[in-house]
Amino acid sequence: MIFGVEGQEKLFKTSVLVVGAGGLGSAVIGYLAAAGVGKLGIVDGDVVEENNLQRQLIHAGNVGLNKAESAALFVEKLNPEVSVEIYPYHITPENARKLVARYDVIAGCPDNFETRYLLNDTCKLENKPFVHAAVYSYEGEVAVFTESPCYRCYIPRAGVSHSRAILGSTAGVFGSIQAGEVIKLVTGSEGVLKGEILRGDLSSMEFIRIKIERRVDCPLCSGKLKEIFPENYQDECEVRKL
Ligand SMILES: [Zn+2]
Repeated sequence: MIFGVEGQEKLFKTSVLVVGAGGLGSAVIGYLAAAGVGKLGIVDGDVVEENNLQRQLIHAGNVGLNKAESAALFVEKLNPEVSVEIYPYHITPENARKLVARYDVIAGCPDNFETRYLLNDTCKLENKPFVHAAVYSYEGEVAVFTESPCYRCYIPRAGVSHSRAILGSTAGVFGSIQAGEVIKLVTGSEGVLKGEILRGDLSSMEFIRIKIERRVDCPLCSGKLKEIFPENYQDECEVRKL
């Protein structure tokens, strides 16, 4: 392996929680399982639908099944040495801390801003690295948040959630990069996107890497936000309650 026996052992001792087993999650789950991560937690309350299969390759043959359950079946076939824990429901402000606390690294693969902010805040409060990715049409981004800055420093308020079709391979590209960042982080490799964001557009094939600045007024990085309150994950997800 490129990261050697030591890296492989580190990976096998690591647990990763993947939130969302959709397009990004399919790539992340597939490559982390193939690479030999020790434990995978998979959170998804949705059911596999026919039109998911253009980008969610791990769910082939499982239309109608819960996505976390379907993903677990895939991992079992690909690499039975990976232990899998499934959570066939949505992550919420009520259950987030409990779920996140059980894992070493969190890979956020949701399709909505509410969950991204919830994961950002929960990971910071639980002191867990948050590997974020998002895709939209031909575009995507990946970032790794460890201490500061955080996702709220990057985007203080949520934009509009788009429901435009995602080119299947866009999710594959950015999900693969996200899986790579998890592996690099765990194995102590250089070049991890810590506090930086990689943005790319597959229609123009332009990629940029930007350093995220810590915001002095960030309620999370300043330590003012100390708990998870459901009020902070509504509408634009700005912090209303401290
Ligand atoms: Zn912040």
